[in-house]
Amino acid sequence: MMTSETKSEVLEGFAGLGLNAKLLTTLAELGYEEPTPIQKAAIGPMLAGSDLMGQAATGTGKTAAFALPLLQRIAEAGKDRSQPSALVLVPTRELAMQVAEAVHKYGQRLKIAVVPIYGGHSFGQQLNMLERGVDVVVATPGRALDHIRRKTLDLSGISILVLDEADEMLDMGFAEDLEAILAQTPSDRQTVMFSATLPPRINGMAKRHLKEPVRIQIAREASTKGTAPRVRQVAYVVPRASKLAVLGRILDLEDPASALVFCRTRTEVDQLTEKLSAHGYRAQSLHGGISQDQRTRVIKLLREGAIDLVIATDVAARGLDIEQLSHVINYDVPVAADSYVHRIGRVGRAGREGVAITLADPRESRLLCQFEHQTKGKIEIAKVPTVADLRARRLKVTCAALHEAAGADDLEQYRSAIDELTQDHDLMKIALAAVKLAHLASCGEHDDAEVEIAIPSYTPAAAGKPGKPGKREKPTGARAKRQSGPSENMARVYVGAGDAEGIRPKDLVGAIAGESGINGKSIGAIEIEEHFSLVELPVDAVEAVLVAMRKALIKGKKVTVRRFTER
Ligand code: AMP
Repeated sequence: MMTSETKSEVLEGFAGLGLNAKLLTTLAELGYEEPTPIQKAAIGPMLAGSDLMGQAATGTGKTAAFALPLLQRIAEAGKDRSQPSALVLVPTRELAMQVAEAVHKYGQRLKIAVVPIYGGHSFGQQLNMLERGVDVVVATPGRALDHIRRKTLDLSGISILVLDEADEMLDMGFAEDLEAILAQTPSDRQTVMFSATLPPRINGMAKRHLKEPVRIQIAREASTKGTAPRVRQVAYVVPRASKLAVLGRILDLEDPASALVFCRTRTEVDQLTEKLSAHGYRAQSLHGGISQDQRTRVIKLLREGAIDLVIATDVAARGLDIEQLSHVINYDVPVAADSYVHRIGRVGRAGREGVAITLADPRESRLLCQFEHQTKGKIEIAKVPTVADLRARRLKVTCAALHEAAGADDLEQYRSAIDELTQDHDLMKIALAAVKLAHLASCGEHDDAEVEIAIPSYTPAAAGKPGKPGKREKPTGARAKRQSGPSENMARVYVGAGDAEGIRPKDLVGAIAGESGINGKSIGAIEIEEHFSLVELPVDAVEAVLVAMRKALIKGKKVTVRRFTER
């Protein structure tokens, strides 16, 4: 239920940016409490019709940053649907689906028709949807060009063009396709580009196609005063679908005394609280829609140890001062580096070491580097605890309890029981049975098989983007360079040094195993070319290696290490 009070709070943040009442209602219903930094910076200029060049990674809220003003502008223009008014180009089919879904979600009340267009989906079906009338097309470049060539997509009515993840599109060889598509759109269109990185090629493209763009660099703007808190920072890179199960394991392993768990929206806060409560965790919600009385009650419960977890949005957690907080858990990656710093600054107070845990979708892992940079600390990429880890941890708890009991001076009363038992069993057997009973009594019987987590293995080859499952289209303008892919369950990373730099396989194995801690034997085939090398790694080790290698030196030099995008 949304109260008028909660709605007006949402209205303030987003309405200040000039969004209309229908969009504001939608945002309030989605549980968004305030605009993210990229949204604050991009929405106003886009509504005013400016071109825009935004540097923002996935996870910063960039989709809404361009989708909201785009929707408002095309709704205001009120054109018929015989031709699309807006075109959003994205590198992969997964992103095409996700962005189309987001545009549809935000545009519900404006009755905007969105069609996603990507390879692998029936051409005929896409044609049907286009013929029915469309306002916004979200497309991958290859398939968009196919439609243009068959004259089934007419771009002469495009007034807004968005290039999302532009660096990724260029990396994937879509440069020529993009130029061909842009040439089909009116030159007086509004053009918006988003890119996680700004290499010269992106700036070149912006120069050619954007008119006096407003430039936004969120990553660099973040600033935090004061010293970094004493916090152990850990991240788990897991797909969105596994997050709840992974959180359960982490909570079981860490057993936090009092933790603040952050979600992005109030809807997500309520859902997570409900799910965790259903699984037996003592959790309460805190967000902008919660009354002051209830808020005071929840904080009191946490302080008194009557609950262990408070699930909160950033807005609700502001001004919250809980001295004894042991853990901050980012169930959703914070939208900006300084909000990460604020969140984790809530632990590690009064000289105690706190723990900050972040769950990041593989696509969001780029943000982790920004967080490290901002905190000047290291974020350890941890492996999801296994069932065996949980069992070992529970046994440790039992052992600690037994250890304590063994030091007590009230044990004599049990001696007669031991004397009796030793008539049938030896002491070791009796001790084993006693540990078993103590263990079951303190930890209960866990049906661990039930919480087996299926983490799909990712092949960047099939995704074109870190950790996204699915197929990628081949650029029509670029030729595939390499035919052979990595072996099963392996993915390749690109290392920017090769034969000419004197690189030998043992240098690569030494640097990778040494920096990331993975076993050198798990490294697969190594290919050394003139100026670069390709190293095969187990898929689930890639993320950790990339993070570990960011500041590493190979043969004394800083070398680029990134995912190799299989063509
Ligand atoms: P993106 O960076 O566009 O991939 O967005 C990441 C996630 O943040 C998506 O799940 C959005 O639904 C969510 N999101 C975007 N803007 C906001 C906001 N202002 N408040 C809360 N959640 C948001």
